[in-house]
Amino acid sequence: MRINRALRLGIGVAALALAAATTAGCGSSEKKSALDHAKGGKLTIGIKFDQPGLGLRNKDGSYSGFDVEVARYVAGKLGVKPDGITFKESPSPQRETLIENGQVDYIVATYSISDQRKEKVDFAGPYYIAGQSLLVRADNATINGPDDLKGKKVCSVKGSTPAQNLQKNFPDTQLQTNDTYSLCLEGLKAGSWDAVSTDDIILAGYAAQSAGSFKVVGKPFTTENYGIGLKKGDKELRDKVNDAVEAMIADGSWKKAFDQTVGASGYQAPTPPKVVRY
Ligand code: GLU
Repeated sequence: MRINRALRLGIGVAALALAAATTAGCGSSEKKSALDHAKGGKLTIGIKFDQPGLGLRNKDGSYSGFDVEVARYVAGKLGVKPDGITFKESPSPQRETLIENGQVDYIVATYSISDQRKEKVDFAGPYYIAGQSLLVRADNATINGPDDLKGKKVCSVKGSTPAQNLQKNFPDTQLQTNDTYSLCLEGLKAGSWDAVSTDDIILAGYAAQSAGSFKVVGKPFTTENYGIGLKKGDKELRDKVNDAVEAMIADGSWKKAFDQTVGASGYQAPTPPKVVRY
């Protein structure tokens, strides 16, 4: 019967359309990997926006710092030109989540490799080894190391390894945590805190910018291996990023990048670390 045939045809067309829509929907909603993004010439990379010498968003909207240079070099090795990179601010407490949710392809942001973080993300590197230290106002003569922090108001950042270390190993410190180190700096200037604690290389950048208002004191008292944070389980990506870090060290770009960024304020480049493939 004619009606029946028309009906069947109609159903057939609708089913086909539905199948096509489902396939298309699937393709577009499926999360692409960092290497897929790189193949398309684009990467979103997490960095800090407020750490001079390391990861800084300048007033003109450009980005500078050692982490930025590492991020760009790695992108280049993955086939992505500097203009294909979108930098995304990645404050310390948000880094694992940004990677897990696929909001960034990788993170180069003074990010210490730790067992706790390795439960959620993977790391390539290390590409630098820092150590926790203390920043005080230039006229402070009483704080010279972590043992002088008893009863002192110290600012660090939520979820950072230095904050965790103070909490655990120096519990008499009055620790206050913020989302960013620049907020800690404001409080140090205003007299709300006695010290700011994080990695030596970060504090050196702030001291250099402070025109003599702040100084870094004491010796570094932890080891912070800076890694490039990656989506957990993407071995191909991790191998490629590790290759890129090794190449950056071997061809002299690592030293050049360091000297032009952190080194510009007189900080000496240490011997670069060896990449650890776990
Ligand atoms: N390297 C430390 C960390 O990853 C401190 C620096 C930072 O917060 O970015 O927690």
